Amino acid sequence: MSVPEGRRERQELVEVAHLCYQRRYICGTEGNFSIRLEDDRILTTPSGSCKGRLRESDLVVTDGHGVPEPGQSGRPSTELEMHLTVYKHRPDVKAVVHCHPTVAVGFTVAGVDLGKCVLPEVVCTLGTVAVAPYATPSTEEVSESISQLVTRYDAIVLDHHGALALGKDIWDAYYKLETLEHHAETMLVAHMLGGVKPLRSSQVKKLLDIVGVYGLQKPANADSLLSARACVVDEDSSS
Ligand SMILES: [Zn+2]
Repeated sequence: MSVPEGRRERQELVEVAHLCYQRRYICGTEGNFSIRLEDDRILTTPSGSCKGRLRESDLVVTDGHGVPEPGQSGRPSTELEMHLTVYKHRPDVKAVVHCHPTVAVGFTVAGVDLGKCVLPEVVCTLGTVAVAPYATPSTEEVSESISQLVTRYDAIVLDHHGALALGKDIWDAYYKLETLEHHAETMLVAHMLGGVKPLRSSQVKKLLDIVGVYGLQKPANADSLLSARACVVDEDSSS
């Protein structure tokens, strides 16, 4: 008998979901995950299930519009529309991870800016961190709030809600979520210790020049990294 379709994707999605629950990026029945299969079909998590106890057989396959294929026992997540918006705007994205990481979301609850260049690793992988305006979860408002951002950002924080990470596979998306929350944790510690001191624009520029050395591509939002909002602008930064 041949290997069931999407077997590897099912295993990886469940592994990532368990990890997100263990790391407390989600609790209860929160969070949702998806992988784009062949023909733009979507493998995703069922609505109302604890992702810490998720099994491969719980996953749902839908068409490209979120309609479950015949024979599926569960209903897809009510937030699947948000994933579909990402796939529509980003042909390169094959997986989406959505969680509610406490520290990153806490910054939006407090109204404190997360978009500072403070860690070289984050500058090279995510660029700056974008925050989408508040939108009622599980409604079309969320798709509207992210549609402008998903073309340039692989990690987006949703105001007073959660975070979205996009990847070329589910592990790539997971690592970006982890990097995002690590960035927020580092910013929080800096605030507790007296304040955030961002990198200088010359330092950011140098990182962007050598990003290929790390085997990475320049983030699509690289231009926004050199603004006074994100870093300390050197007088000769335009040279
Ligand atoms: Zn959510």
